[in-house]
Amino acid sequence: MNKNSNTILFLNHCGELGGAEISLADVAKPYAKNCLVILFMDGPFRKHLESQGIKVKTLGLKSIPFQRSKNIENIIYLPILIIIFFCLIIRISIISQKFDLIYANTPKSLIIGALPSYITRRPLIYHLHDLLSSEHFSRINIFILISIINIFSSSVITNSNATRDVFLKAGGRSEIAEVIFCGFDLNKYNINKFIVKKLRNSIKFKDKFIVGNFSRLHPIKGQNLLIEAISKCPQEIVAIIVGGSLFNQQPYTDKLYQQVKDLKLEERVHFLGFCSNIPELMSICDLIVHTSVAPEPFGRVIAEGMLSQRVVVAPDAGGIPEMLEHGKTGYLFPQNDVQQLSKIITTCCLLPHEQNTIAQNAESFARNNFNLGIMQKKIHLVLLKVLQEKNGL
Ligand code: UDP
Repeated sequence: MNKNSNTILFLNHCGELGGAEISLADVAKPYAKNCLVILFMDGPFRKHLESQGIKVKTLGLKSIPFQRSKNIENIIYLPILIIIFFCLIIRISIISQKFDLIYANTPKSLIIGALPSYITRRPLIYHLHDLLSSEHFSRINIFILISIINIFSSSVITNSNATRDVFLKAGGRSEIAEVIFCGFDLNKYNINKFIVKKLRNSIKFKDKFIVGNFSRLHPIKGQNLLIEAISKCPQEIVAIIVGGSLFNQQPYTDKLYQQVKDLKLEERVHFLGFCSNIPELMSICDLIVHTSVAPEPFGRVIAEGMLSQRVVVAPDAGGIPEMLEHGKTGYLFPQNDVQQLSKIITTCCLLPHEQNTIAQNAESFARNNFNLGIMQKKIHLVLLKVLQEKNGL
């Protein structure tokens, strides 16, 4: 397969700009001129793709009334779901006839893309960015997803060994699963020292020990743990919380603001909202803390923190221990353990020089393992293999 031939139809249900979406843009970019990304819902992701010259078609849905875990709601919405499902399948089947293969990037787009792939005889590749475990999905949804993958997918790309292991444990076929870590454009992490200094001087916290948290504001990302941990740390430790309120999470965002107020941390915790200059912002931090309360399949922000030559502190769960070795390339703490988290933050602040080697080790590990070019090459090989199998070569 030639990267310049008109071959791939990418499917993604949502238009928000989460980690799976940023990763899809990186996957689609080498095929920019000759692929199409279908978004079931419109949103900032469309602009993100278009700005990179990737063609996008949005299907204009406002929402898909299907929850990952609330089965009762799913049953109530079943008739509406069936109608939406039927219309989407027809539309995608028609469009997919112009392409050689279908690449689904989210669970909902996999469910919708499976039948068109079968009807039009286009191979289906699924990029699994999620841990198919009870912390993230109901049992029935795991059963549906695994069944669809096993029956319809020619290949499943998982973003970590943990994601692959959970997929296999849930009944996924091992012969179709391949682990490919997310890759990043390494050039973006060579930030000019002058820019870092200027940016740091522009914020109120410039003389403090700045802890950065970079995630969409969502209960699963546990920003409330960081706020609580900061309240237990010495006064010179402050935090910037970077990330937007995606996927209808305004009530959680309001709670975080209230928590800061209740703990009288207004002078020590700042919310910056969604930002697009993540490498620059990471460079002004003294420490990066990730606080998910459920195991992360991969955690792009952890890789980005390491590439920024920062010490990253993250929960010891899911795919994170594959990325960070405790005491060598970062620090792990037991998921949800605020005491331990505040202890590690305080130690890093009190012993800054000890952290330099860890930050350097982290950067070198990340450069070797989270390289965009390598990710794109590996994915291209998967596409080639799937197309060759389809053509009986
Ligand atoms: N991100 C961003 N701006 C923000 C906050 C986050 O661009 O204000 C990016 C972040 O750099 C990362 C992605 O969003 O690349 C989040 O991916 P991750 O795997 O950490 O979490 P997910 O959203 O997939 O659960």
